[in-house]
Amino acid sequence: MTAAPTLPAEGGCRCGAIRVRISAPPLLTAACHCTGCQRMTASAFSITVTVPTQGFELLQGEPVIGGLHGEQIHHFHCDYCKSWVFTRVEPDMGFVNVRATMLDDASWFEPFAEFWTSEKLAWANLPVVHSFETQPAIEEFGPLVADYMGR
Ligand SMILES: [Zn+2]
Ligand SMILES: [Zn+2]
Repeated sequence: MTAAPTLPAEGGCRCGAIRVRISAPPLLTAACHCTGCQRMTASAFSITVTVPTQGFELLQGEPVIGGLHGEQIHHFHCDYCKSWVFTRVEPDMGFVNVRATMLDDASWFEPFAEFWTSEKLAWANLPVVHSFETQPAIEEFGPLVADYMGR
């Protein structure tokens, strides 16, 4: 059985100004070792709960764009404490990536997949089922989600 949160699962940024809720089962859990995530998390990798867009809700606060301020990928941060809370892809591809450690209870979390192992720190070995040297191709996401949700 894949690790999964008790729903609904709420969370927020470090100062509490931003509050979010997950109300649908995750599509995937993952870690990303890319150097961008290393910088944004001030750590070795980011950890993500991918949830269907309709299963994600901003309850409180006004998140601001951070990270690269790109056109396609919007990293939403708390304007006060600067926590990186969630990421949306524009146009919406049907999911929102919530940073797992923003959840009030992240103890259930385990990464099912990892991305960008080509950039990972040598010691950062994770108990994942699927590893990708870079980003999975678009056509690889369907089977990945099916495998995660099927367990
Ligand atoms: Zn905050
Ligand atoms: Zn990354």
